[in-house]
Amino acid sequence: MKQDSPYDVDVLRKEFPILDKEVNGHPLVYLDSAASAQKPRAVIEAQREYEAHFHSNIHRGVHTLATKATEAYEGVRAKLKNHINASKREEIIFTSGTTDSINLVAGTWGRANLKKSDTIVLTRLEHHSNIVPWQILAQEKGFAIEVVEIKENGELCENSLKEKLALSPKIVCVSHVSNTLGTINDVKNITKQAHQVGALVLIDGAQAAPHKTIDVQVIDCDFYAGSAHKMYGPSGVGFLYGKHELLCQMPPCRGGGEMIESVSFEKQTTFNVPPYKFEAGTPNLSGVVGYGAAIDWINSLGLDNIAAHENSLLEYASSKLLQIEGLRLIGTAKSKASVISFLVDGIHPSDIGTLLDQLGIAVRTGHHCTEPIMTKLGIPGTVRASFAAYSTFSEVDALVAGVERAVKMLR
Ligand code: PMP
Repeated sequence: MKQDSPYDVDVLRKEFPILDKEVNGHPLVYLDSAASAQKPRAVIEAQREYEAHFHSNIHRGVHTLATKATEAYEGVRAKLKNHINASKREEIIFTSGTTDSINLVAGTWGRANLKKSDTIVLTRLEHHSNIVPWQILAQEKGFAIEVVEIKENGELCENSLKEKLALSPKIVCVSHVSNTLGTINDVKNITKQAHQVGALVLIDGAQAAPHKTIDVQVIDCDFYAGSAHKMYGPSGVGFLYGKHELLCQMPPCRGGGEMIESVSFEKQTTFNVPPYKFEAGTPNLSGVVGYGAAIDWINSLGLDNIAAHENSLLEYASSKLLQIEGLRLIGTAKSKASVISFLVDGIHPSDIGTLLDQLGIAVRTGHHCTEPIMTKLGIPGTVRASFAAYSTFSEVDALVAGVERAVKMLR
């Protein structure tokens, strides 16, 4: 099945060495990009090039390689600042990923500012990484966690949001895009409402950054977190955006080299300014360089083009899958990104996933680190196919044929 796309997907796929692979005797059909996207040669090469020719520790040395490595690393910070339209490069902290970024906010801002009588607000849609760091801190501090509920279709319930905001929470933590249901939340509007009651807003952008143009100044959020490996970049790298005045007030949470101004046994140790205050130790240097290449790669293709392609795939896959008897889509929000979760009556999702794998089709099954969604919907998990810039209509056809075959075998 061939359909219109804003770019030539077959040509684009040649940039991804892994997409040529066979798995279990079949051409790989990779429909698990929401878990981690594959990398184009430009990213793999940028990392290799850095390791082979430029590697040295950053910030500390006066020698040529140290200067080159520092320039490369700080250059990516500037690139990321432009990519999400932060107002200053100091607002971008490199982390090991979204999980690390959220733990950083909980461990610094949260530990310094939340007390027993406080309330914070999360949503039913959150990934465990935007729930558990807050629960761990709540055990220590005793504050209350309130949860914004979802509607049947996977959209956030506006009344529930209003009720929770009426409790005057200190922070609202919400995903931009749900990794399980694909729901795109109106984070600009949520941020505006949260600010009206004096709450800060943290946005988990792990699933949004690969598919949407992010403008943190337009959203006006206080924190925004993302992961490179969901954006065609390396794993073990990500970012936390934070408004500069907040980052200046926040205490550091990890001590070590680079995050200090002066260390003394005789006087008080003093700390560096943001972002360095939050970047103790030697970071994942080649990973950050690879992240820079991934951002260039995304921009050369254009996020709007990627989104247009993925939306056509989503529409096509939804209509094809719904023709399978007993199949229901889980998550039918009006505004959705390129994730499609489904269940087939009477068949466990992991059985479908296992049979698809035998055909070389990689999908994810289970709760996708969102157990509270499963509890609410009363389901054990879902089968989740997710798309990226390189996904094709014929891969959707292969998925649909694979599910039909699995259903025949398992019924
Ligand atoms: N939030 C969401 C919505 C996600 O999809 C993921 C990854 N599955 C994460 C957070 C965690 O990202 P990472 O593992 O890169 O820290």
